[in-house]
Amino acid sequence: MELDFGPAVRDFRDELRDWLAAHLVGEFAEHRGVGGPTDGAAWEVRLAWDCELSAGRWLGVGWPQEYGGRGLGLLEEIVFEYEYARANAPYRATVNALDLLGPMLLQMGSEAQKKRFLPPILAVGELWGQGFSEPGAGSDLASVRTRAEREGEEWVVSGQKVWTSFGVHADWLYVLTRTDPQSVRHKGLTLLLLPTDQPGVEIRPIRNLAGQDEFAEVFLSDARTGADMVVGEVGQGWRTAMATLGIERGTTLLPQQLTFEREAESLIDLARERGALDDPMLRRRIVDAWISVRIMRTTNLRTLAELTTGRTPGAQATTAKLYASTRHQQLGYLAMELAGPAGQIVGENYGLDTRQRSFLLSLAETIYGGSSEIQRNIIGEQFLGLPKEPRP
Ligand SMILES: Cc1cc2nc3c(=O)[nH]c(=O)nc-3n(C[C@H](O)[C@H](O)[C@H](O)COP(=O)(O)OP(=O)(O)OC[C@H]3O[C@@H](n4cnc5c(N)ncnc54)[C@H](O)[C@@H]3O)c2cc1C
Repeated sequence: MELDFGPAVRDFRDELRDWLAAHLVGEFAEHRGVGGPTDGAAWEVRLAWDCELSAGRWLGVGWPQEYGGRGLGLLEEIVFEYEYARANAPYRATVNALDLLGPMLLQMGSEAQKKRFLPPILAVGELWGQGFSEPGAGSDLASVRTRAEREGEEWVVSGQKVWTSFGVHADWLYVLTRTDPQSVRHKGLTLLLLPTDQPGVEIRPIRNLAGQDEFAEVFLSDARTGADMVVGEVGQGWRTAMATLGIERGTTLLPQQLTFEREAESLIDLARERGALDDPMLRRRIVDAWISVRIMRTTNLRTLAELTTGRTPGAQATTAKLYASTRHQQLGYLAMELAGPAGQIVGENYGLDTRQRSFLLSLAETIYGGSSEIQRNIIGEQFLGLPKEPRP
């Protein structure tokens, strides 16, 4: 994974490599590669690692200096992700705030919101959860029913959110609410920032397939937040939410997909260990898995190249999300097959190894951030100009 963007970026890369070599030691080194965007494994160690990164000023390298970032460009951000993956450092626990809320606030937040919220994100002082989905509003997000009513200088919010990743750790939520009770679908929605430490917020963990309390359901009963906690404009929450999902399906895929490359490499080691390389059919599937992670990388680089020239990736973000999630699942199935019966044995207290956890959690990748069916609809309707999916 050698990327060369010229001397200035090379200095940055060398500084980062040296820092990682000096700091990714001890307990952090023992947890190399652990975790993922929806994997809560080794949470405390990962939080401590994020604090270490923060102290070294390695969080938000592309964020403006006035909010605590380094103010560097997209190239440095890319190099950071590649070097980070190369060192196989623990997956950042603060991913929700760093990769989703932060970029969204930078794009659409008020100056006061940026000043208030961005520095604590980089200091790992406040953790965030995304409150979009509801029991009746997942793929069909426009059916959001959580209500927010203005009462003096506050918004009063009631409703239920679900599948909130790392919700049990969240100090704040960014919630999509319906502020115009007469409105339907995409209209009349507003995105609010809401503190969780109050009587009106109840967060109940949901246990996932890997035995973790990774996500949660959130009950809001007259929960309160300030009138100035609207991101974007009142009634324009759909726009803000879509911008966030665009970020989720775009650049944030990069760190995750770089970990898939590592998994493909370990798949080859596993196949060699188990003498599976002699089987022509398995060999073919391994090569196929390898090709797919290389395609992910190339697609990502194309996306990033577009971003560096100021263009919006458009269709590519959708096809990349669809491709990466389905191919990563195939990679997981192959790894489990190669591991054989040993792959089915779990440790004490349902302790899963990295391969087992990654396989189980990959099953959710074709659901979150927009399911595969929805991505196919977007590709068909918005990019290929096919007739619209019949709606009930
Ligand atoms: C691990 C994980 C983490 C998540 N984290 C968060 C989070 O932090 N915050 C948050 O707000 N949400 C989160 N989600 C929720 C996620 O966004 C939703 O699960 C997703 O949008 C799908 O919605 P749903 O679960 O309600 O399924 P549904 O929308 O009910 O879909 C059920 C099935 O029907 C299909 N389907 C639905 N509509 C159509 C259509 N029009 N055409 C064809 N097929 C269709 C879907 O593809 C799916 O297969 C997370 C989900 C998972 C699995």
